Order: sequence, then structure tokens, then C-alpha cells
Amino acid sequence: MLFLVRYGEIAVKGKGTRARMVRLLERNIAAALRHRGVGGFRVWSRDARVFVEVPDGDGARASEALSRVFGIVSYSPVVRVKHGGLTDIVSRGVELFSHHVRGRSFRVRARRSGREPFTSKDVEKALGAALLEAGAGRVDLENPEVTVYVEVRGEEAYFYTEVLEGPGGLPLGSEGRVLALVSGGIDSPVAAWMMMRRGAEVDMVFFNLGGEAHELGVLKVAKILADGWSHGYSPRLHMVDFRPVVSVLMEEVDEGVRGVVLRRLMFRAAEIVAGEEGALGLVTGESLGQVSSQTLPNMLAAEKGVGLPIYRPLIGMDKNEIAGMARRIGTYEVSARLQEFCAIAAGKPRTRVRPEEVDEAEKRVDPALVRRLVGERRVVDLSKLSPQILDLELEQGCEQP
Ligand code: ATP
Ligand code: MG
Repeated sequence: MLFLVRYGEIAVKGKGTRARMVRLLERNIAAALRHRGVGGFRVWSRDARVFVEVPDGDGARASEALSRVFGIVSYSPVVRVKHGGLTDIVSRGVELFSHHVRGRSFRVRARRSGREPFTSKDVEKALGAALLEAGAGRVDLENPEVTVYVEVRGEEAYFYTEVLEGPGGLPLGSEGRVLALVSGGIDSPVAAWMMMRRGAEVDMVFFNLGGEAHELGVLKVAKILADGWSHGYSPRLHMVDFRPVVSVLMEEVDEGVRGVVLRRLMFRAAEIVAGEEGALGLVTGESLGQVSSQTLPNMLAAEKGVGLPIYRPLIGMDKNEIAGMARRIGTYEVSARLQEFCAIAAGKPRTRVRPEEVDEAEKRVDPALVRRLVGERRVVDLSKLSPQILDLELEQGCEQP
């Protein structure tokens, strides 16, 4: 079975960049196929298309794999034929599709990229007329039940009726590495996913505040991102026990600024991990105004003095849009359940904390403590983690600091 794969933005890149990205795309497609147990496949590119050939019985699994490879805009299961000109294309088209259009409204869409002595319009007219004669219902150019597509490339013609959607974006691995702060809530996994979609290799860091239940929830979410989407890069999850930091903050820092100080300290710790892992930026799931810690003053106060750029891909999105994406990505259910169990009481946070207040409060926490906790972190290679983790129930509640 053969698939024709289309990529979007890659096509407008300069020659060298395009060649590099297409190679990455091919590599990631192969990784996604292998991950789903498709064997004996072939991946190659020609003109501005990638072709994927898999054993006939593996079509459904291959299709599922392609729907999760970044850089793919759309793809189609196709039938390839060597043709001997317009008449031949028409008779092959009738052979392949007359049963499909019988009694139904249809249209023919043709493209051509070679030097044939006929135009794509000629193909549309001739094949359309022939299909009508062979029993098709009627031609409907606006809203047909079936569209028969033909792409003629040199002496080969590709026929198909389905255009399936890919996730778009750029091939994972084309843009370097970032470190995403993942709490397991609904937002941060979506933010990590959006950076993957733009081609970044995304490692994750989790600051454990809620004990074992919190940790299990985050492991599940990270596993879903890794297995479901990170094809071509095997991501790591860094788990830092941050409860000792929270204890100090509970004792020594006013509840109005506590959340912002905690976020600053997370950034400091994440920066150390990023430095060791070669990550070029941090990523959070913040969205403007969503909660009190995500006001403009508080985000400014939290990030002051942090040396790496902090990317916030969800900053302009609404909560329901983010939830919709989480559903599509597959993290929504675990995240929603985790939030139900692990909502950590934040006290009465202020919405306009000044950076100097955070500078001052931050001094209550010994930098050596943060360094030690980072040094003692657990690092999980997510592709090696057993998928059985996904079957474990999130039952017990989180610890409260
Ligand atoms: P989420 O839905 O992602 O949990 P949130 O809306 O609950 O986010 P906050 O708790 O204000 O928002 O956190 C903002 C961001 O800070 C999160 O999106 C995440 O990137 C990061 N973050 C918060 N808590 C943690 C944590 N325990 N470990 C790692 N990152 C965290
Ligand atoms: Mg949260």
C-alpha cells in the first residue's frame, strides 16, 4: 500500500534547509512506523512529495502513524500507475473508481507536473465524462460526495479519493532543543506539544509538589507525549523533588507572593537542567490572565533574572481552545483527573507582585538547596518507560504542603 505525503512550509525553504528537513521528515516517518510495528516499509521523496510504501495489511497502522508526524500537512492512500497518455489515464481512472462514484455526485481534480501534451483541465473533463458514462450520479463541483484526485508526475499517475489531515508544523529535530516545565495539568503538556510541532526536541522537567500521585500523573502525561508524538527524538523527563523548597516558602514567605517566588525558583532550577541538557529555552503552559500567577506583572516578576528565554506558546489562547487541543493530543483525561486530585491550595495570591519583592523573598531559599535537589533529580528515558504506566489508576490524592 502506497501513501503520498504532502508537506507545507518545508517547501518554501531554501534548497539546503529543505533537503535537511525532508531527510528529518523521512527519518521521523520511519520512526513512527517502527513504533507502531509496521515492518518492511519504504520511505522516499520525489519532487515536493514523500512516498511511503507499507505491506498491505499495515495500512491502518501506517495511516495512524502519519497522522502524528510533525511536518506532514496531509497525506493520501494512493494507487500508482504507469500511464501511456491521456486515454490511458482515463481508462485506468474508470477501472479504479467507477464503483466508487456509482450513483453518487462527484468531481475530478487533476494536477500535472510534467511535460505531457495535455493539461490538468483535459484530464478532469475526459475522466469526468468517462465516469459519468460508467454510472456516476452527477458532477458537482461545489459539494460532491466523492472527489477523484489524479496527480500526473511524468510517466506516473497517482489516483486517490481521500485527503487525510496531518499535524502540520516542522519536522521534529529541525529546530534544536528546549526544556518544557510540565506540571501534568491541562495546559503545560499542550505547550510542550506546540513546541514539538514547530520542530523542537522537547525534554521535560517536573517539580514534584504533591508526592507520588502527582508523579504518576506526570509520568503518564509525559509518556503519552513521548509515545504518541515525539517521533524522531526520545525525550527525557527530569523529576525534581521540590517539596523542601515549598516547605521553606510556607514558613518564610508571605502567601501573596509565594506562588510567584515558587515559579522564579522553578525557572532557576530548570535553567540548571537546561544547561546540562543543551536546551536553548524554557517552555511553560501559561496563558495570559488565566490564573493569578499569569498576569503580566506576575509573569514579569517571576522571570526577572532568568538567563534563558521562556517560551509560552499558549499565551494568547483561551482555556477551551487549550482543552480542545489536549483532547486531540490525548493528554486531557489524565490531566483533568490529576488536577482534580492535585489542586494545591495557593492561599490568597496577589496579582501585581513587584520583581523586587520576589528578589527579596527568593533570598529565603538557599541556592545550594535548589542545586542539591536538581542534582538529586530522577531522569526518566521516556521511550524506555513501560507503557503499562498508562494502566495504573490515579487514585490517591496529592500530598498538601
Ligand atoms: P498547567 O495547566 O500546565 O498545570 P496552570 O494553568 O495550572 O498550568 P500554573 O500552576 O500557574 O498554571 O503554572 C504555570 C506553568 O508553570 C505551567 O503551565 C507549567 O509550565 C509550570 N509549572 C507549574 N507547576 C509546575 C510543576 N509542579 N512542575 C513543572 N512545571 C510547573
Ligand atoms: Mg497546574
